[in-house]
Amino acid sequence: MKIPFNRLDLQFYMYQDEYEKKALEVLRSGWYILGREVEEFEREFSKYIGSKYTVGLASGLDALVIAFRALDIKEGDEVIVQANTYIASVMGITMNGATPVFIEPDEFFNIDANKIEEKITSKTKAILVTHLYGQCSNMDGIVKICEKYKLKLVEDCAQSHGAKFNNIFTGTFGIGCFSFYPSKNLGCFGDGGAITTNDEEIMKKIKTLRNYGSNKRYYNEVVGYNSRLDELQAGLLRIKLKYLDELNNEREEIALRYLTEIKNPLISLPKVRENSTSVWHLFVIQIKNREKFMKYLSDNGIDTVIHYPIPPHLSEAYKILGYKEGSFPITEEYSKEVLSLPLYNGLAKNEQDYVINIINDYKEVN
Ligand SMILES: *Cc1c(COP(=O)(O)O)cnc(C)c1O
Repeated sequence: MKIPFNRLDLQFYMYQDEYEKKALEVLRSGWYILGREVEEFEREFSKYIGSKYTVGLASGLDALVIAFRALDIKEGDEVIVQANTYIASVMGITMNGATPVFIEPDEFFNIDANKIEEKITSKTKAILVTHLYGQCSNMDGIVKICEKYKLKLVEDCAQSHGAKFNNIFTGTFGIGCFSFYPSKNLGCFGDGGAITTNDEEIMKKIKTLRNYGSNKRYYNEVVGYNSRLDELQAGLLRIKLKYLDELNNEREEIALRYLTEIKNPLISLPKVRENSTSVWHLFVIQIKNREKFMKYLSDNGIDTVIHYPIPPHLSEAYKILGYKEGSFPITEEYSKEVLSLPLYNGLAKNEQDYVINIINDYKEVN
């Protein structure tokens, strides 16, 4: 049997008729940028997660960059961020000239809230949490620290659409930065992103920044960006959003099967934080001698991916920060041991069985 890591065509076919109808409607409307579909999507997404405002943008990276820009975070400022995040989180900080201050992750692969306070300095302006792999960060601990030190809170929700901590959606604790890249839980059919906020002032700044720093055509208040969610993507996202819970439930069912049926002493399964839900953006296991296991799966037709093999502090792009191997041992250990199994909408029952059985049959041989 052949199990690819992901299949995006399947989630298109699930609601094919609605997507095709909407696509034609937008194409025939003659209006493609900043129109009704974006406005409606912004309203519907706000309603879904429980934020006052949503501003549609061109990507998740743009959401991060523009969020820090709107918060006036710049050169000389420090932003606390988990060391094992996807590198875009860090780019959102450094593209504004600010300095990332890395924190090791906890056992749930999210920022370890107990290790934040010791890294706070007079330059610290914000905390960026990434709800990595679909799992909520420890928001109780983090919100308390933000209040105590008067820090801004930004959430990278690129992997956590629909995840809740204490029954509150991620993206509503601080400024939420979302990506709608096709493989995300709420993915569109190209690039897309958004910021969610309860702050009217911030919302207005972001709307200005996404459109060349302009609110009124050809009157430019600041040097901005061209970062607009387009009408076609917004229209298609409105359809997907209606089914987001259904899609996340399907992921959860597969995850629960993996959690209960994968039984192999060589493998550590992911743990879910108390009082929170995971939307299983990725199902990430840990295993020593990962490459051997990966090859075994691949020989049996199962594709896997490593999220992520090189932590930002060791990447070529951030050599300039001066970190070296050993700077963040937990992060580095994760980068050597984590592996994501196929888990996607449309992964059939017999395919799930196959993945489980092949994994349970794995023995380490030299
Ligand atoms: C995907 C992702 C991003 C970037 O989103 P794009 O839309 O690809 O720019 C940022 N942060 C995390 C954690 C992501 O997974």
